[in-house]
Amino acid sequence: MPEAEPERTLRVCALYPDLMNIYADRGNLLLLEQRCRWRGLGFAVSSAGLDEPLDGDGADLYYIGGGQDRDQRLCAQDLASVKRDALHAAAARGAVVLAVCGGYQLLGHSYQLGDETLPGVGLAELETVRADGPRLIGNVAIEVELEPGRPHVLAGFENHGGRTVLGDGMAPLGRVLRGHGNNGRDGQEGVRAGSAGNVIGTYLHGPLLPKNAWFADWLIATALGLEEPLAPLDDTLEDAAHASARQAAGI
Ligand code: GLN
Repeated sequence: MPEAEPERTLRVCALYPDLMNIYADRGNLLLLEQRCRWRGLGFAVSSAGLDEPLDGDGADLYYIGGGQDRDQRLCAQDLASVKRDALHAAAARGAVVLAVCGGYQLLGHSYQLGDETLPGVGLAELETVRADGPRLIGNVAIEVELEPGRPHVLAGFENHGGRTVLGDGMAPLGRVLRGHGNNGRDGQEGVRAGSAGNVIGTYLHGPLLPKNAWFADWLIATALGLEEPLAPLDDTLEDAAHASARQAAGI
């Protein structure tokens, strides 16, 4: 008997999957897929690479992964020109934008690398500067409150040379419990922007979603605009991964 069509399908668009993909970005997408499938939700992934137009209506969640400075150079101009309007339109209609590390740095206004300034897509008020100091590397844990009064811990790994500073009034994704966060100074990690808090940037990878399945579920539910919470899953293994990531971060 053919499988019944799922009632809902999460449509994900990966931006520059061939270039912006270090530290398990593909694993993050696979986790979203699997958690949808386990619940009988459909999952469809598309991609938009260099010079390819972006469909601002084509996805519920747009994903930009991490990248080396070299690859960010290639993508920054394209993101800020070819894809800018469509990504802004998607964010404005409430689609989730999730940008990790190198992708996060391109969400803002600019990424300064010595004498060179890479443009950002301008979805969040933030600037990043590549400092001369050491790279900010290590296990990291942050406290996030995606819904008021319901704090959660996100645990992961960071490795970045860039230091990010948020503009006035911009909310970080979370408060650093262990690790460096945006710049190693102000205790902020990531950004939560967009009119509904639907634009999210973070330095956490390593990989972000398999270590924080609860966050993946929040992304799925938010991207699909679900009123009801997602059906619970047996998360014994995922909880163990979370506990081990917290332990690695020392909390
Ligand atoms: N190239 C950026 C930096 O080093 C981001 C690196 C990454 O995505 N891990 O700051």
